[in-house]
Amino acid sequence: MSQPSSPAAATLPATSAAASVAASIPSYLQADNLGPWGIYLQQVDRVVPYLGPLARWAETLRRPKRALIVDVPIQLDNGTVAHFEGYRVQHNTSRGPGKGGVRFHQDVTLSEVMALSAWMSIKNAAVNVPFGGAKGGIRVNPKTLSLGELERMTRRYTSEIGIIIGPTKDIPAPDVNTNEQIMAWMMDTYSMNEGATATGVVTGKPVDLGGSLGRRDATGRGVFTVGVEAARHIGLDIATARVTVQGFGNVGGVAARLFAQAGARVVAVQDHGGTIYRESGLDVPSLLAHVAAVGTVTGFTQAEVLPNDQFWDVDCDILIPAALEQQITELNAGRIKARMIIEGANGPTTPAADDILHDRNVLVLPDVIANAGGVTVSYFEWVQDFSSFFWTEDEINQRLTRIMKEAFAAVWQLAADRKVSLRTAAFIVGCTRVLQAREMRGLYP
Ligand code: GLU
Repeated sequence: MSQPSSPAAATLPATSAAASVAASIPSYLQADNLGPWGIYLQQVDRVVPYLGPLARWAETLRRPKRALIVDVPIQLDNGTVAHFEGYRVQHNTSRGPGKGGVRFHQDVTLSEVMALSAWMSIKNAAVNVPFGGAKGGIRVNPKTLSLGELERMTRRYTSEIGIIIGPTKDIPAPDVNTNEQIMAWMMDTYSMNEGATATGVVTGKPVDLGGSLGRRDATGRGVFTVGVEAARHIGLDIATARVTVQGFGNVGGVAARLFAQAGARVVAVQDHGGTIYRESGLDVPSLLAHVAAVGTVTGFTQAEVLPNDQFWDVDCDILIPAALEQQITELNAGRIKARMIIEGANGPTTPAADDILHDRNVLVLPDVIANAGGVTVSYFEWVQDFSSFFWTEDEINQRLTRIMKEAFAAVWQLAADRKVSLRTAAFIVGCTRVLQAREMRGLYP
């Protein structure tokens, strides 16, 4: 499929000459770095020309409905008190309660959480689950905390945001560095404060506490599903494809496993510890076991070590960024060999990189569709919690696959009809649904 640029793309400023001078400085340290919220705003600017009369509501997309900053004090094991900064942002609730994960990371900022909450609004609308968009986070490196400190921080944070979350208001879930145990503590803290067990206040819980079968693998499974669909459209054979993956957590690890099971060769993996490479394909099950034991891909003996920057030069057909935002920028987009990029992470590609990839005919499956499998099964979990009736894993996976395929097909068709990128098409679908709901509900009071 060809991807002519949108009319809006042509009006964006060209990459500045200073960028080439500063080519050795990481993008996120450059003065003109947009930051995640700036990137999101550019993505909105690109979609507005396609929204027709709904464009009069577009300012709604540029303003989070509500943003809460909380102080999270905890007693450390050594008796001192530490303070962390936490956030919960509800970007939009026109289509339903806020929904989105909670991230524990040392680089979390309000700008980042705002962008992540907005991407949740678009994502939930693009796959048509009845949620608005929200996100939370704490600026902390959780690896520096003991288990007890992690629990106390999670509980205090949950209490602090308790005034705006709830099963019908805003439902958190796992994201970077948060997991089933953290969701169990969040559910328990909220329930204790309310005086009644409220399993539906978070998703991604342990299965024995109202969690859903299939939730753990759901994001990676969704990445795989849309990857297979897109590969079919561009005549790429998954069984012989070479795949590179950045981030080997819940998203990248599962996606790598499913691609390898389908016959693909996972030739390079990068995570926070470093980059490993194996021309003939990494043994993914062994690598998963290694990461479960030591916490990073480095030290895996059946692979070569690559300098981190060389990850972007690895010869491959499919690249799966499944870590953090702003990884594919104007500085490395020209070097990427893949025919297709599947965005397992949220916001991994900057608008400038999008333009370079588009010119080079690299197909980008945007985050708001590609990684929507997680929140889709979160929706199933929330429905199961309300009815206290639980589905089989087969039922979950079948429903997930159907939703992902339908959402992908609709976006693919729209991209072809309107001659826009898949990102702009996904934003047209998502923003149209959000703004239609906004308009139908009207302004009150
Ligand atoms: N954190 C995931 C995401 O970015 C899942 C959110 C959820 O399940 O609510 O989509």
